[in-house]
Amino acid sequence: MRLPKDRKNDYSRKAIRARLDFLSQQSGSELEDLDRSTVDPSLAKGNIENIIGFSQVPVGVIGPLKVNGEHASGDYFVPLSTTEGALVASYNRGARAVSLSGGANVVVSANSIQRAPYFVLNDVFQAREFAGWLDKNMDKIAEVVKQTTSYGQLTGHHAFIQGRMVFVRLNFSTGDAMGMNMITRASQEVCRYIASHFPVSGYAIESNMAVDKKPAHINTILGRGKSVVVEVLFKQRVLSRVLRSTAGDIDLAYRRQVAGGQLAGIMGSNGHVANGIAALFLACGQDLANVSESCVGFIYTETIGKDLYVSLRLPSLIVGTVGGGVSLPTQRECLQIIDCQGSGKALKFAEIAAATLIAGEISLAASIVAGDFVTAHEKFGRNRPKTD
Ligand code: NAP
Repeated sequence: MRLPKDRKNDYSRKAIRARLDFLSQQSGSELEDLDRSTVDPSLAKGNIENIIGFSQVPVGVIGPLKVNGEHASGDYFVPLSTTEGALVASYNRGARAVSLSGGANVVVSANSIQRAPYFVLNDVFQAREFAGWLDKNMDKIAEVVKQTTSYGQLTGHHAFIQGRMVFVRLNFSTGDAMGMNMITRASQEVCRYIASHFPVSGYAIESNMAVDKKPAHINTILGRGKSVVVEVLFKQRVLSRVLRSTAGDIDLAYRRQVAGGQLAGIMGSNGHVANGIAALFLACGQDLANVSESCVGFIYTETIGKDLYVSLRLPSLIVGTVGGGVSLPTQRECLQIIDCQGSGKALKFAEIAAATLIAGEISLAASIVAGDFVTAHEKFGRNRPKTD
């Protein structure tokens, strides 16, 4: 029993149909929708193997969302892809509240992505000597990186000694790409260079300290991808008209949620950042597994008179506007809707993402305070199976 493969062109519609027929036989189900997409499957080369079609997830849009960033400035309509009813409606309401309050102020405070090889030495003394050698030789190591990419640069490192091992967390800038392919190739050359210039007894390209696709305190503290900070001063009339709430009620609700989150051991403090991240990533061709570290976010609220100041810190937002899945047709179009496709747009995309997420946060908080959390989901978000 083997999956059909076409050695000449495994991305042809014929190859896809052969696999679907095989799977139809195996599962006993008609498989008619998977290969109905109009997208040319050969465009997915480099993004998927053993292709059997395209997932078709609905895409909605929110906006206008007013963003006052250093790279994104203006009103944006933001595409979100999800199967969770009520999500787009909620983010849309939040976008209205943000915009009527004057917009979301956003900055990207740090920008670097990591690979973290480890090296094995003889003992702690040599491990210490190695860490010192690394410090002295970083300029030469940065030159090695330059040989592998025209956009990636080694910007720094942190070394952690654990017995006779040294974990080296390498920081890179990667232009507008999220950069993991780029820096993995660079890191391989870095490891080879190090191993041929210092007598290490072993090494591996990744120690799991990068930390890619896992939420981790090190990402939260040192940053990973884009570290973004966004703030909005929600005006009293917007809180009452759009969100049917007050500054005091939302502020108190947030403080209680932080307490609940602490008891539960949540990393970060937010209501549902993962909802907006996943929907934006899916629409715009980002690597969905990076939702795991991108969704760590810290909300801070404060009443200022009858207004509500809200800030959200996202220490590890992993986005790119070049490379990966961003050039696939619908993903490219979604990026074009927010003018974030291609070179020179990654920081802009990060700022729009952060503004979108704070919109989702205020809307959820307000719906919990106002008591319409359940009714909103009942209205928009139920899809009970049909009974004949
Ligand atoms: P990529 O598509 O592999 O590489 C980006 C390419 O775009 C590079 O060739 C780069 O040139 C070029 N480029 C052109 N204009 C650029 C610009 N303005 N800024 C930056 N680069 C520009 O993308 P990637 O971001 O490195 O990797 C993303 C993919 O890695 C995702 O699909 C993700 O799922 C996957 N991933 C890989 C690993 C891994 O271990 N390899 C781990 C996690 C995720 P240069 O060739 O000169 O750099």
